[in-house]
Amino acid sequence: MERVYIGLGSNLATPLEQLRAALAALAALPQSQLLEVSSFYASDPLGPTDQPRYVNAVAALDTTLAPLQLLDALQAIELDQGRQRKAERWGPRTLDLDILLFGQRLLDEPRLQVPHYHMHARPFVLYPLAEIATDLLLPDGRRLSALLQACPFVGLERL
Ligand code: ATP
Ligand code: MG
Ligand code: MG
Repeated sequence: MERVYIGLGSNLATPLEQLRAALAALAALPQSQLLEVSSFYASDPLGPTDQPRYVNAVAALDTTLAPLQLLDALQAIELDQGRQRKAERWGPRTLDLDILLFGQRLLDEPRLQVPHYHMHARPFVLYPLAEIATDLLLPDGRRLSALLQACPFVGLERL
């Protein structure tokens, strides 16, 4: 079993319900056990500002799935919940499921980079992650507590 942290986000089609449905789907993944879920947070959008605020959370999962198997499963859940891939980067979406950390792995594959390349700069990732993973040590040697100190609690609201 490896411990995986997944970032959830939604800003379309009733985001709270999208996150609840996504968590139910995560709980039903094969070879996996959903362990813990953070509080939900409202957050300012990245990128284009003419879109609704997001609801975000982070979930902890133990799994024996391989990283790309998990990515396939997460993308299937996104599609199942109406995710449409558009050209615009960071545009509005019904559901985004990102693999933040996969055990102590460092992955740099065309479809999958882990740790997630931008998690260190995202308050809507780091603060919920800290709720369910106290003083985590990242595989690149960084501590979650250090990342938090460098990432102000801005544009974020615990729901
Ligand atoms: P960001 O990655 O900046 O949060 P995004 O989540 O909106 O942006 P997506 O459109 O969801 O980006 O995904 C684009 C591609 O990113 C996916 O097709 C996937 O192959 C790739 N990807 C690379 N690393 C990861 C990861 N750690 N978790 C999820 N997808 C990843
Ligand atoms: Mg994302
Ligand atoms: Mg994504």
